[in-house]
Amino acid sequence: MDTNDKLPTREEYFHEPTEKEIFTQKMEKFNAMLDECHRIVFFGGAGVSTESGIPDFRSSAGIYNKKQFGINIPPERILSRSFFDMHPVDFYDFYRKFMVYPDAKPNITHQRLAQLEKSGKYVTVVTQNIDGLHQAAGSKRVIELHGSIYRNRCTRCGMDGYSLDYIMNQDVVPVCNMCGGVIKPDVVLYEESLDSESVEAALKAISKADMLIVAGTSLSVYPAAGFIRYFKGKYSVVINLTEIPFFSGADLAFANKIGDVFDKVIIKKKKRSPQS
Ligand SMILES: [Zn+2]
Repeated sequence: MDTNDKLPTREEYFHEPTEKEIFTQKMEKFNAMLDECHRIVFFGGAGVSTESGIPDFRSSAGIYNKKQFGINIPPERILSRSFFDMHPVDFYDFYRKFMVYPDAKPNITHQRLAQLEKSGKYVTVVTQNIDGLHQAAGSKRVIELHGSIYRNRCTRCGMDGYSLDYIMNQDVVPVCNMCGGVIKPDVVLYEESLDSESVEAALKAISKADMLIVAGTSLSVYPAAGFIRYFKGKYSVVINLTEIPFFSGADLAFANKIGDVFDKVIIKKKKRSPQS
């Protein structure tokens, strides 16, 4: 030990930092990282949307199954392409009840990310959510890995442009008014592959980022976990109520609500000549 260092007092030595003090220290670090970095990728999972009151379908589905079928069909089965093709009535019943929340509003995390982008940072949001809340908050660069409830397309003739209202207001199965084919939400179902353009765009954004923030996901949903391997930048930050074992090497980890963290994010004024 350097003898010039001032030794802590007995009180300082025995002081255990409180949770609040630890959080404050972490927020200082987080804000310094955000300030230092220009290209920022926010990789968000279901936890981002649950804080807007949208339940994770995995937890809400059990109730439905028992009531409707008398047997337990896992949501992963209902939300599969083969189930959609064979039982569109049941699919749409489930979909309208548990997948679509048109009254949900962006929360503080969506808002801060949009403000960060507006302040001149090159922010890319990569999301596993299908609710469009990042765009509703004003984010421009949003990559929706699992699609969106706001895009709907005919499975027969390919006609698109059907609105969410159209889907929600049809009696049973929404059909195309050009050809009578079944309309399918542009939401990636089980047994379907992700849109290759979205995957490419996400990997490109992650590999070019200075900073990667992973929030509200346990990274257990394939293939999200593989995505973060592409990160080669300076700082990685994890925000998740439970620890993500796979991503234990993060530079900063919060076991907090995402909104509690983003509530304390400081947005600086836009710098001149915003070149990206
Ligand atoms: Zn059609």
